[in-house]
Amino acid sequence: MTRKINHIGIAVNNIAEFTELYRDILGLEPAGEEIVEDQKVKVGFFNIGESRIELLEPTSPESPIAKFIEKKGEGIQHLAISSDDVEADIALMKSKGLRMIDETPRNGAHGTRIAFIHPKGTKILLELTQETKHH
Ligand code: ZN
Repeated sequence: MTRKINHIGIAVNNIAEFTELYRDILGLEPAGEEIVEDQKVKVGFFNIGESRIELLEPTSPESPIAKFIEKKGEGIQHLAISSDDVEADIALMKSKGLRMIDETPRNGAHGTRIAFIHPKGTKILLELTQETKHH
């Protein structure tokens, strides 16, 4: 398989504040918004080449994104790498000694199946993203 950057996740307090930047100034194509209940987050999509920028706005103070913003401020929260088979990749990462936040895949935005790798071994939060439908 050829890995690609599936998306870059950017934590923000308010997606609407950044629409002008990404759509009007940078000229990226907005591709909708979606609530991901699992992570208590609203996601705003902007297509860039074969990848996306995903603006992540917390929908609850319990959201991991709210906690991230509280600790580090708004900014890049994670990098998502494409996966053909997220279960196989979880097994691969574990066999290489990487710690997984998600030992089993969970549901991400856009009908994806995702798993986060613990940043201890990678220095940044990496997400493995398997597309399950085309859009
Ligand atoms: Zn993501």
